[in-house]
Amino acid sequence: MQARPDRSRACTLLAAGCTHSGRGTVAVMPTLLVRNATVLVTMDAARREIAGGGLFARDGVIEQVGPTAELPPTADEVVDARDRLVLPGLINTHHHLYQSLTRAIPGAQDAGLFDWLRTLYPIWARLDPGSVRVATTLGLLELARSGCTTAFDHQYLWPNGSRVDDQIEGAAAVGLRFHASRGSMSLSMKDGGLPPDSVVQTIDEILADSARVIGAFHDPSPGAMTRIVLAPCSPFSVTEDLMRATATLARERGVRLHTHLAETKDEESFTLERFGRRPVDYAADLGWLGDDVWFAHGVFVSGDEIGRMASTGTGVAHCPTSNMRLASGIAPVRGYLAAGVPVGIGVDGSASNDSGNLLAEARQALLLCRLTVSPGVGEGPQMSARTALEMATRGGASVLGRDDVGALEAGRMADFFTLDLDRVEFAGSHHDPVAAALLCSPVPADSVFVGGRAVIREGHHVSLDEGALVARHNRAAAALVA
Ligand SMILES: [Zn+2]
Repeated sequence: MQARPDRSRACTLLAAGCTHSGRGTVAVMPTLLVRNATVLVTMDAARREIAGGGLFARDGVIEQVGPTAELPPTADEVVDARDRLVLPGLINTHHHLYQSLTRAIPGAQDAGLFDWLRTLYPIWARLDPGSVRVATTLGLLELARSGCTTAFDHQYLWPNGSRVDDQIEGAAAVGLRFHASRGSMSLSMKDGGLPPDSVVQTIDEILADSARVIGAFHDPSPGAMTRIVLAPCSPFSVTEDLMRATATLARERGVRLHTHLAETKDEESFTLERFGRRPVDYAADLGWLGDDVWFAHGVFVSGDEIGRMASTGTGVAHCPTSNMRLASGIAPVRGYLAAGVPVGIGVDGSASNDSGNLLAEARQALLLCRLTVSPGVGEGPQMSARTALEMATRGGASVLGRDDVGALEAGRMADFFTLDLDRVEFAGSHHDPVAAALLCSPVPADSVFVGGRAVIREGHHVSLDEGALVARHNRAAAALVA
């Protein structure tokens, strides 16, 4: 890949008369040309894949996608994508970035969800603003290196003065579009919930801070880099009152709603015993179905529940590695897709995945889904690589309520990544490079652009000192677990 350094963009701008500071100067909107891609995958309505393709963007917004010969011949920045696959930026729909500090914790390596949580809650209770900040930066960098350009994070515990503000600060250093959540827990052990008292808050504290955070950070405009989501944690850690009040506040303020639902058999039993209802019925009674809602996991849902989600536009974040790691179960993704439920992919927290690689997660979704078709026989229609890629791009955009990302077409943001097809992992796969991106071993993104600006070049972040960040993160992890 030969990409011109940023300084040449500045020179071009200066040559065009932009002083960046002078009064009365006409703003010059920088242009970006990507050309000569082996294949450019649009994920547009026609799902076009353009051999020898490229795109032209102005001020971060795509103006043209097509064969290189039909694009403008030059731009302020030119990216030659020869021997590269160009893909829409991946969109992560469920994560807990702070958990990168507690990967591979010995006592939680071989446990199911509830025991895993009981082991980790006391450690997470020691989080503070600094550890939340460094974990956010590290986790988003890890996602970026896998081709992710938009990430949602579900942070639901705020001990020792940590705030959404710390995450926003940590995210800014990476440059991805960040959907932060004001998550919450309000039902502790003494009231029949799972978490200890030390990590829950009162409903008044939660709602007041939720309103503050929306006012401070939520940007509803197209191309937004930061949005806020309200996200009570799960049926076994949140009261019904908080669920209802959160839905009311979110709809008053125009932000989306997210929670864990139907993740494990334990949770299904808890919901049936405590609330006398199945998980989706419970959510429906609290006002938690709608096209502004998406659930993480949705493993234990009936056909009727899938139908209710489809008819209300309620989405789901499918997290296959976490579901395997915690032995939770297999989500009925084929059923969701057939019914028209919006489905995105999520890496889930780094402590139940031990990884934050979204391309690898899309591959896991593909492979796990195949086990739901006549296991041991392999008959029936199989999920294709392109369907898995669609869930990780268009699907994720729809789950997050965005029509400005998730595909490469005129009017959407220039969010994309490239894969180097000359790598060892792709040798012998050039018969179908698009399928190879999912079927072959997941490789790091060669370059990643968000809104037409490079975040990753030649596999590394354009400005972060990655080694220093890892060292800082490891010190924070050691202090937290000590
Ligand atoms: Zn989760």
